[in-house]
Amino acid sequence: MKVGIFGGTFDPIHCGHVILAEQCREQCKLDEVWFVPAALPPHKLTTSITSPKSRCEMIEFAIAGNPAFRLNTIELDRTGPSFTVTTLEQLHSQKVSHELFLLIGADSLKDLPHWREPARILELATVVAVNRGDRPLPDRSELRVVVGSAADQRIVAVTMPGVDISATDIRGRVQAGRSIRYLVPRAVEMYIHDQGLFRSRDSGVSQ
Ligand code: ATP
Repeated sequence: MKVGIFGGTFDPIHCGHVILAEQCREQCKLDEVWFVPAALPPHKLTTSITSPKSRCEMIEFAIAGNPAFRLNTIELDRTGPSFTVTTLEQLHSQKVSHELFLLIGADSLKDLPHWREPARILELATVVAVNRGDRPLPDRSELRVVVGSAADQRIVAVTMPGVDISATDIRGRVQAGRSIRYLVPRAVEMYIHDQGLFRSRDSGVSQ
């Protein structure tokens, strides 16, 4: 089975995320896409994030109705920071027959050389890099220095209609009392409203 692994903070999940996942599913002929919320994203260790429970519930609402989409809590179920290489090693040992594809936005691809064990990541999964907004994919030369020819052989590009939506912007809009309609799935919008998420700067109490 071909499985797309889509990691992120998802605080909250938004339409950019689900469009990315669906375009990767279609263009890479994936059987499933697993949304993997991070416990403690290594690059966000100092910021407070919404509880795992709320982030998972928003993901469940956003993916309901798409039989190829699943929530996977592997990173929330273990302790410590969520390093992608650890997640892929764990999935690989549990589901050896699955072919793994790591879905990432262009901004994350730029950071890949600085992640833990980038060469091992490219052994465990094909990286599917997707444009973010209308910005092109970053140049791979820095990545080539770190991982050699795998930078070209193990990374495929997928193009999605550019949507310049970010979770940071969604949180800012809610805090300012502005509309987030159509920026997040309707059920996620209702959940944010009902739970009173992101209303204050300190909302999203850390775990
Ligand atoms: P924040 O604003 O809090 O940093 P975010 O919107 O970037 O959050 P994440 O959960 O950090 O969301 O992102 C998870 C993955 O989704 C990353 O690989 C990121 O590049 C990708 N992504 C997020 N938003 C978009 C978008 N609008 N278009 C394409 N890729 C996106």
